[in-house]
Amino acid sequence: LAVHNPRLAERVLVVERARYPRDKPCAGALGGRGDTLLRELGVEVDVPSVPVDGISFRGAERHVAASPGSIGRVVRRVEFDHALVRAAAAHGVEVRDGVRVEAVREDGDRGAVLETEAGPLRARVVVGCDGVGSIVRKALGTGPARMRAQVVEVDTEPTAGEADRRHLHFDASDRRLAGYAWDFPTLVDGRPLVCRGIYRLAIDGDRGVDERDIAAVLGERLRAQGIDPGSCKNKRYAERGYEPAARLARGSLMLVGEAAGIDPVTGEGIAQAIEYGVLAGRFLAERLATSEPPRDIVRWQDVVAGSRLARDLRMRRFFARLFYGRSRGRLERWFTETPDAVYVGCQHFAGQDYDWAKLLRVLGRGAVRMAW
Ligand SMILES: Cc1cc2nc3c(=O)[nH]c(=O)nc-3n(C[C@H](O)[C@H](O)[C@H](O)COP(=O)(O)OP(=O)(O)OC[C@H]3O[C@@H](n4cnc5c(N)ncnc54)[C@H](O)[C@@H]3O)c2cc1C
Repeated sequence: LAVHNPRLAERVLVVERARYPRDKPCAGALGGRGDTLLRELGVEVDVPSVPVDGISFRGAERHVAASPGSIGRVVRRVEFDHALVRAAAAHGVEVRDGVRVEAVREDGDRGAVLETEAGPLRARVVVGCDGVGSIVRKALGTGPARMRAQVVEVDTEPTAGEADRRHLHFDASDRRLAGYAWDFPTLVDGRPLVCRGIYRLAIDGDRGVDERDIAAVLGERLRAQGIDPGSCKNKRYAERGYEPAARLARGSLMLVGEAAGIDPVTGEGIAQAIEYGVLAGRFLAERLATSEPPRDIVRWQDVVAGSRLARDLRMRRFFARLFYGRSRGRLERWFTETPDAVYVGCQHFAGQDYDWAKLLRVLGRGAVRMAW
């Protein structure tokens, strides 16, 4: 918003319940797409990172990998988010941290009132970028998403046989798990560690036949990797998948980022939150250009629905239903038997131009498999 209309910067207030630098449970894999979007706004987030140039995927039957070159990096959210907030402040935006919003209510044509620990705040527009437990989403009356994930992660020392540190490793070989395990290289206070975790999706509350606690699933996996789970500190959290039918705006309230919904297949949400932010900044810069109260914030719903971001999320939602449903075996075979599939997946994560010959081969084989 500040980039699109610098005069509006002094009218923007960011309210954050934690104090920066604040951490957020997250494996920190940031696709190149996210950094490109920030760079286009003139924001360079220079924090310690592990560069990543490929992805490996282990299915129940095969293991595949691809390295199309630089596709992104792994950051620590405690550092990355702090740098983002400093960038916003450098653009003239006021950030008030350590202030929890306790309630949000609309106030007719005048906007909305936020009840906070530090007293009430009045705003013409409230952008709910308050994550998976969004209080703005509740005020909008938007129910819980149909796709929700549970996630648990730990940071450990690398093991003796640790896989390639320039890859993000996904392991979906456990078919009981409607999700996957990951091992991502990470840097904690300069130490090269590995972030390991379990992602499990539930669709309409159904997580399949898997009754296990995800912390126990991670514990089992750590033991198999020769790591004592007792020596690790688990971080547990939830994630919300994008839902095309969910209400994202009403009156003076609108939702972005995980408050709105992100990728349900892998739980990727950093680049998506950045992309929501880019769209919202452009949208609000137009809506707030005059001194009239903005009346058509509800159009945010259409802006999102017509965006590249929503097309991507709708496609991922479709894949989530297939992959974590009855088509898993077939989809996994298609993915692992088509060497170009991981390659194209890497390009998608990176926001690179596709290798069209590869993409067409992947889609062709996918269509044949699904038709069969
Ligand atoms: C374990 C785990 C691993 C993940 N790994 C990855 C990954 O490797 N790559 C990837 O792309 N994505 C990953 N994700 C997803 C990603 O972390 C989120 O999708 C992303 O952070 C969403 O960004 P956001 O800005 O919308 O919300 P958040 O990052 O959740 O930020 C919301 C902010 O709102 C604040 N807030 C909330 N409520 C209030 C309130 N009432 N008052 C004031 N402030 C409030 C919170 O303190 C927080 O700072 C992972 C998620 C989890 C849980």
